[in-house]
Amino acid sequence: MSAAVEIAPTTRKGYGSGGAQRRFEAIDARGSRRHFADTHPAIAEGRTVMPSRVFQPGELPRLLVSGVNSRKIGKKVTKGRWKGAPIFTLTLEERATCPRTCSEWRTCYGSNMQYARRIAHGPEFERLLWQELEAKQAAHPAGFVVRLHVLGDFYSPDYVELWGEALAVFPALRVFGYTAREPDSPEGAVVRELLGLHPDRWCIRFSGLDADTDGAVVIERGEATRHTICPAQTGGTDCCATCALCWHSDQTIAFWRH
Ligand code: SF4
Repeated sequence: MSAAVEIAPTTRKGYGSGGAQRRFEAIDARGSRRHFADTHPAIAEGRTVMPSRVFQPGELPRLLVSGVNSRKIGKKVTKGRWKGAPIFTLTLEERATCPRTCSEWRTCYGSNMQYARRIAHGPEFERLLWQELEAKQAAHPAGFVVRLHVLGDFYSPDYVELWGEALAVFPALRVFGYTAREPDSPEGAVVRELLGLHPDRWCIRFSGLDADTDGAVVIERGEATRHTICPAQTGGTDCCATCALCWHSDQTIAFWRH
């Protein structure tokens, strides 16, 4: 991958406006959602519809990818308690790592992400991930952020525990993201335990949890909601790097379906 190109900041806010935080929009979902029947092999077997876009960890130059490559994430936090921290994303294989209870099992936006590089999960992935976290801790001792997971999910309680160990060993690590694992599932239980242990550095919300806190819900555009709508969708901010809401509040956030 070539070096990041700095683009002059823009005053326009909201998705797709470019700016210094984002280089291009290639890995994000494009177009309307694809719907698949239950009998489609990927849906039945529980895997991506794009198997050629799943890579063994050793095939990739890196597992943690700068948020500059995502129009929704951004490169570096610009405000709040994580200000100055670079953001990295992690992308696993959708469905292969996700619970079948996910409400988007047949309509996952990953099916629109033909450019995303999914990392094959397992022991080799975990070994290399640990090495990268170690390197990030050394390179960014004041703080770095990992956004879990652009695609995919916590595939086992042990994998969630790995993040718990990483939070204990790497004080610069901050994590935010969403999981379709239910709060009372084995994986969800570990996620909740870490929310209690590291409330300032582990900001994971449960997708579909329509509670006052710790949830992330999808609503139709224009639908009334008691929750705050993601400001990057309403035009209130540019991207996660300029927003910080997901790690400054535990309030449930609503996302417009796209
Ligand atoms: S609320 Fe803010 S931090 Fe959370 S997903 Fe939306 S833009 Fe990102």
